[in-house]
Amino acid sequence: MPTYNRADLAFERGEGAWLYTADGRRYLDFASGVAVTGLGHSHPHLVKALTEQAGKLWHSSNLYRVPGQERLAQRLVDATFADTVFFCNSGAEAVECGLKMARKFHDENGEPDRFRVITCAGAFHGRTLAAISAAGQEKLLKGFTPEVDGFDHVAFANLNELRAAIGPATAAILVEPVQGEGGMQAAPVEYLRGLRQVADEFGLLLFLDEVQCGMGRTGRLFAHEWAGIKPDIVATAKALGGGFPVGACLATERAASGMVAGSHGSTFGGNPLAMVAANATLDVMLEDGFMARVEAAGRYLKNKVEKLIGRHPRVFTELRGKGLMLGLKCAVPNLDLQAALREKGLLTVGAGENVLRLLPPLIIAEKEIDEAVGIIDAAAAAWPKA
Ligand SMILES: *Cc1c(COP(=O)(O)O)cnc(C)c1O
Repeated sequence: MPTYNRADLAFERGEGAWLYTADGRRYLDFASGVAVTGLGHSHPHLVKALTEQAGKLWHSSNLYRVPGQERLAQRLVDATFADTVFFCNSGAEAVECGLKMARKFHDENGEPDRFRVITCAGAFHGRTLAAISAAGQEKLLKGFTPEVDGFDHVAFANLNELRAAIGPATAAILVEPVQGEGGMQAAPVEYLRGLRQVADEFGLLLFLDEVQCGMGRTGRLFAHEWAGIKPDIVATAKALGGGFPVGACLATERAASGMVAGSHGSTFGGNPLAMVAANATLDVMLEDGFMARVEAAGRYLKNKVEKLIGRHPRVFTELRGKGLMLGLKCAVPNLDLQAALREKGLLTVGAGENVLRLLPPLIIAEKEIDEAVGIIDAAAAAWPKA
């Protein structure tokens, strides 16, 4: 179905931060398949792990124990706030699991009427009916109504509006610590701490969507770590499998107390191939110094891009985001700029509010950052005067 606005470009192979077409053209990948290939393309450790597993066992189902799931869950639990993990295949499914969990939590506590979830304007939570209803954006919902009931929308990063929206039916708060598709706004740490306080005050579950900003993107395994808070539920996916489709919903034992045998499931979720890909990804991300390098690369890129914006006020107006999840708010149409950069061999991604996303792989080298910034600089300098 023609559901995508695709560029007329196809890749045959990738290596590190580079993608190659069949006719040998190469592109510097500051899109990473939309924040998915965090370790770049063809990372030797991932290739080895997945090809070895491919010769042993692809799928057995959740009728049986899956040792790779047990190992990955334990490692995620050890590295985060979580006590328990559900595995699925995508971000939207990870969000769906968290939404069901929030309803079940209050139902188990004898408050089945508490089912509403407060979400933020500009949010993106995936494309299922519940996820587009959660986001509440007209462009996602148009033609797909009636929406799934139970979502109340407030301004992003505004605690007063949030407090005012809480009622007796409120079950949870769902927020992206860094909004991705919506325009790369990073929530201030004070806001995230405020969310924790408000959730505690009203007995709500704090559910963070880290599908895009998690798995090292901001220089921490999860972006909420910057605020030093412990959420109740976190959805993650995109970079979790390094390019292999896998999602996970992390939760505390308390938040997940209603999730028992039979309450949720997935045929493919957590299959052996996905688990090997995610475990191999974690092998690399949990190495000493990995996150510090991401943080340093993020600082290096930010510094360069700030100067770039200063040089081209006609083209750029603002820098947003955190770590290696940066957004350039444009004064020219962001998708035209994206196309111009692609012509010059640099891949980027558009976002809402006329923002251009820079999402390099987390293993990006300084000289590759220099090269990308050089391409953006040249494209901006050549931008026709209005
Ligand atoms: C991409 C994304 C999703 C949806 O993930 P899919 O794998 O496309 O279902 C959900 N939430 C956020 C924040 C995302 O960036």
